[in-house]
Amino acid sequence: MPIATTNPATGETLRTFAPISSEQVEAAISRSSHAFRQLRDTTVEERGDWLNRAAALLEAERDDVARLVTTEMGKTYAAARAEVAVCVNACRFYATKAPAFLADEPADAAGVGAARAFVRYQPLGPVLAVMPWNFPLWQVLRFAAPALMAGNTGLLKHASNVPQSALYLEDLFRRAGFPPGAFSTLLVGSDAVEAILRDPRVRAATVTGSEHAGRVIAQIAGSELKKTVLELGGSDPFVVMPSADLDRAAEVATAARCRNNGQSCIAAKRFIVHTDVFDAFAERFAARMSALRVGDPMAETTDVGPLVSEESRAEIVAQVRDAVDQGATLRCGGELPAGEGWYYPPTVVADLTPQMRMWAEEVFGPVAGLYRVSSCEEAIEVANGTAFGLGANAWTQDPAEQERFVIDLEAGNVFVNGMTTSFPELPFGGVKNSGYGRELAAVGMREFCNTKTVWVGGDGRTDSVAALAE
Ligand code: NAP
Repeated sequence: MPIATTNPATGETLRTFAPISSEQVEAAISRSSHAFRQLRDTTVEERGDWLNRAAALLEAERDDVARLVTTEMGKTYAAARAEVAVCVNACRFYATKAPAFLADEPADAAGVGAARAFVRYQPLGPVLAVMPWNFPLWQVLRFAAPALMAGNTGLLKHASNVPQSALYLEDLFRRAGFPPGAFSTLLVGSDAVEAILRDPRVRAATVTGSEHAGRVIAQIAGSELKKTVLELGGSDPFVVMPSADLDRAAEVATAARCRNNGQSCIAAKRFIVHTDVFDAFAERFAARMSALRVGDPMAETTDVGPLVSEESRAEIVAQVRDAVDQGATLRCGGELPAGEGWYYPPTVVADLTPQMRMWAEEVFGPVAGLYRVSSCEEAIEVANGTAFGLGANAWTQDPAEQERFVIDLEAGNVFVNGMTTSFPELPFGGVKNSGYGRELAAVGMREFCNTKTVWVGGDGRTDSVAALAE
């Protein structure tokens, strides 16, 4: 893929970048490794000051950076401004919480025959971050903020279509005060990832992207025995049971499917509705989906902007056509608009069957699949019937059903009467082919830490061998 900014609203390529040379990559890894030795010796409070400064810069530059994001990947300007705000919040969260998340954890010293025993969280070193374009700032920040606070350094290989967002982030951390090389953007294609990951100075990798990219990178990391965190695709279920508030469920379902122009890993994609309320929900949902305004992402009145690329739109067209050709019905949408830009209308497809691509594949655009079920058990079976397991949404007022969904939905999170979203306060990640490991909260920060056990004896009264023998 060329490294370039191409505006999805017009198809115009505005700027292209030559990939950096292997010598420049080598120099960046060297700087990262050097910066790690500096960063690990700083205090968490110093790092917190820098992260707070990054938050303040982002806040001050919010409008400009939001415009850049909209230009590079097509989300609405309002959504881009909201993304910046989420990043600011996460930086402040980690700046405040890191001292507690990284504090030594006392253990039962007497129980292990020690004078003192505790767990210490220490950074690993340079971490490679392979990131997607759909949230060009937030996907990176949610790795970088905790990783830098823990004392790691970051090497960013961002998606090739958001190079200016990637360069902005490198510049942001530098201006905030982090040592040179603490966070570097490498303008390289995906073919450069293997060599970077095999470099002995690079200690771990985090990947957010497609299942394919996750598999490829995890295999390389596995052969090098390096830790990975994988945040991959999803086809989240949104279950609606008879006791649900149907108006609210339809409203949230529309937002859950169409946020970020339908291009979110945790967008609800499969709407699994109990037969008793199927028609009532489908009617409300299709009405709301077709009322969304599609158009110029910079316009205040726009709800849904263009898809990221021509290829991405062609994939959606092919998935919907495959379903319709095999007997699925369109409740709304499905017609390509004329004119420039890679727009696709909010679309609802019903009467899906397992032979259709949409049944099992992730649909990365504003297209909802409707599934009819006749019981809670069947809803769970259909919900769990894909290889993915990122998020899950269940709408019911019945406490027994709520508990059933919490227990049985195969997903990294379950939102009951709500829509899946990510908060710095809560762990985020998936199961099955949606990946492994967690981002955010304390657990996300510790993914790239050495959880070091410390046992201290030698005071004449302590002995780990004796403790074992007893
Ligand atoms: P993608 O094609 O996998 O790209 C993601 C990143 O991986 C890009 O930087 C890409 O570089 C790189 N990459 C792709 N193939 C690679 C390979 N063989 N070796 C090394 N690097 C490779 O995914 P995308 O289209 O940008 O993003 C959409 C996908 O990401 C969806 O499946 C979505 O669900 C998932 N996603 C998951 C989460 C989550 O938290 N679980 C969040 C957001 C998105 P190039 O751009 O240079 O190809």
